[in-house]
Amino acid sequence: MTLKTPEQYEESLRKLNLKVYLQGELVENPVDHPIIRPSMNSVKATYELAQDPEYAELMTATSYLTGEKVNRFCHLHQSPADLVKKVKMQRLLGQKTAACFQRCVGMDAINAVDSVTFEMDEKLGTQYHKHFEKFLRQMQQEDWTVDGAMTDPKGDRYLAPSKQADPDLFVHIVERRKDGIVVCGAKAHQTGAINSHWILVMPTISMGKDDADYAVSFCAPADEKGIFYIYGRQSCDTRKLEGDTIDVGNKKFGGHEALMVFDHVFIPWENVFMAGETEFSGLLVERFAGYHRQSYGGCKVGVGDVLIGAAALAADYNGAARASHIKDKLIEMQHLNETLYACGIACSAEGHKTASGTYLIDLLLANVCKQNVTRFPYEIARLAEDIAGGLMVTLPSQKDLNHPVIGKVVEKYFKGVASIPTEWRMRILRLIENITLGTAAVGYRTESMHGAGSPQAQRIMIARQGNIEAKKELAKVIAGITDQGAAK
Ligand code: SF4
Ligand code: FE
Repeated sequence: MTLKTPEQYEESLRKLNLKVYLQGELVENPVDHPIIRPSMNSVKATYELAQDPEYAELMTATSYLTGEKVNRFCHLHQSPADLVKKVKMQRLLGQKTAACFQRCVGMDAINAVDSVTFEMDEKLGTQYHKHFEKFLRQMQQEDWTVDGAMTDPKGDRYLAPSKQADPDLFVHIVERRKDGIVVCGAKAHQTGAINSHWILVMPTISMGKDDADYAVSFCAPADEKGIFYIYGRQSCDTRKLEGDTIDVGNKKFGGHEALMVFDHVFIPWENVFMAGETEFSGLLVERFAGYHRQSYGGCKVGVGDVLIGAAALAADYNGAARASHIKDKLIEMQHLNETLYACGIACSAEGHKTASGTYLIDLLLANVCKQNVTRFPYEIARLAEDIAGGLMVTLPSQKDLNHPVIGKVVEKYFKGVASIPTEWRMRILRLIENITLGTAAVGYRTESMHGAGSPQAQRIMIARQGNIEAKKELAKVIAGITDQGAAK
């Protein structure tokens, strides 16, 4: 079985024995918890769409390992066309869920770990790539959702991992045994952790010689002994406890992040992909971050499509759609959104083959893509709020709308265009609120800023990849400046 049905995915999660804390309580059944379930629905959509012949081209691929059809989230990119399809798949899922569907971190992690372990083995004679291929085979066979876990809590940003007051602020090896390693530490804001079967841990920064115990990469079952999770809060998350109401904005879908803690977790050698090879730590970070920066040129664009549609509907329902400034704002939103997409497609089309055979995006363009993502969704959200009007944050609740007495008052005074039910207007305003300020805003706004690396991380990469010296040479030639002095 290389493609799980959505139902099989949900059932497989129920079999996990995850230790999850949410609002100070141990959650007995994460799958049915009303705050967690919408995020599970988003991952489930990656299984659902893969079953649909209409989306087979984007959602599935042929495994280079087995020749079998696999979900694209379990696939290693074999061509620039694969990289382009990845971005298109993410836009599609963003459109269908208007939330973070979480599964990309695993896809980006396997693609990065594949090429880096291959190159590491070639140079150092290690055996990591064989370990990795075994894991990948299982992942494809079982159609696992894998949480690619990179970001450590990092403590004092000025200090290297081994110089921190608390050694656990970066995941590290505390014991090397004949049969494996023991690790401690934590990974912060882990996307989709509670909806994942396995986790794939990577280091979060380049490491120096003193940090050898911190240059560690491995995979583990998500419910491995010693691993537990503390669920992150999101704005307006407790609205989900109120039942299926208009007030949640997005009826079915959501995303989540969690703190993932490793308390002396044993990892057998066959699941280890790096253990002290500091010189490859930075390369792994660069490639994973590069792939995830490409990803944002797909997922955020898809959510942006929903937000633009919602803003246009709000204008229709308000009776403002014909105003020229509204039309212009909607054009501006589309311009910004398609610019994000253009970068996602461009860095994919310019992808190249690595030594392992897996394709890597153009890193400069992927970083430009993500740098734009740290800005444009904010402007798109600002324009959506402008068009929606203040009512998106002052509306009464669905309970008021349904109330036998005041319901009529809500209905009467929150009516826009006479032919449009007040309830529709409330629904669309709540959706805009959800994407710009509510639970989906985590994925659409703040994650646009910090996910896949904060803006400064991209600027460092742009500086490294931009090749300013070559540009100086171009200018010198055009201006007639030679090493011998000014041209005669
Ligand atoms: Fe995927 Fe986007 Fe969520 Fe990252 S933020 S996991 S790319 S949907
Ligand atoms: Fe993300």
